[in-house]
Amino acid sequence: MNIPLPLAEPLPRAHARADKRGTHEANKLAKRLRHQVGRAIADFGMIEDGDKVMVCLSGGKDSYAMLDILLQLQQKAPVKFELVAVNLDQKQPDFPAHILPAYLESLGVAYKILEQDTYSVVKRVVPEGKTLCSLCSRLRRGALYAHAEAQGFTKIALGHHRDDLVATFFLNLFFHAKLGSMPPKLLSDDGKHVVIRPLAYAREDDIAAYAVAKQFPIIPCNLCGSQENLQRKQVKRMMDAWEKETPGRIETIARALGDVRPAQLSDPRLFDFLALGARGGEVPDAHAWLAGEPHTSDTDA
Ligand code: SF4
Repeated sequence: MNIPLPLAEPLPRAHARADKRGTHEANKLAKRLRHQVGRAIADFGMIEDGDKVMVCLSGGKDSYAMLDILLQLQQKAPVKFELVAVNLDQKQPDFPAHILPAYLESLGVAYKILEQDTYSVVKRVVPEGKTLCSLCSRLRRGALYAHAEAQGFTKIALGHHRDDLVATFFLNLFFHAKLGSMPPKLLSDDGKHVVIRPLAYAREDDIAAYAVAKQFPIIPCNLCGSQENLQRKQVKRMMDAWEKETPGRIETIARALGDVRPAQLSDPRLFDFLALGARGGEVPDAHAWLAGEPHTSDTDA
């Protein structure tokens, strides 16, 4: 007996439903990112009334997402602030210089493309086979900060996200023996610039999905042919494996970065352990204690 097959749903209707589901997911994602960026701005006092914010745009997914979300928040923000997108064209070979201006003009946002051939400098100075990124980033930072100072920007916004903050924490822990990450807000070493990271609470995979949904015209950062630093690669692999085995672990670590307990660590510069339980008597220092160390006799050896 022939069993009649169920009639397939007409294609246009199936597509419409899939589209609707896709739009619903994309809206949820956009809302979550707006919420996280808004919360980071509020928690760290990143933007105030009258701020002139230089939004550093590299052409990567993170900086596109940052600009996009800041523009959305600007519409409804309780304060007035200015946003200017700034890109540094570092003269890497095959850099598609037309992409960013075309995109920014389509948004109608104020922008500036700076040009400085840091690529040649890095190629000349860094020995063959070594990673270029560290010097490249330092030169880029120098050029962007100089522009910010010349133009009177009150804030510099960078597109680092939650996963960058966690990765930096482990790089510092494993390779520099210190507990420290990239703060969501910081004063530059020369005290002239306030740097903000509005994506500090945003997950990298959310940003990647958002970049796809918004079809940002991504420009790869490896046009220079440089390899990512090996230590960073190692940390990323570790974080990916953790997240796969124990979903949510990276979020837990990120939350821990905002819940530091100096009295439960061992840094006397952060917590006055000397004063703890002190009874007011003289507290001898390490030299005094060591000077009193008994001599080891031959029989002890
Ligand atoms: S990948 Fe190339 S352009 Fe990107 S930071 Fe490294 S050296 Fe610079």
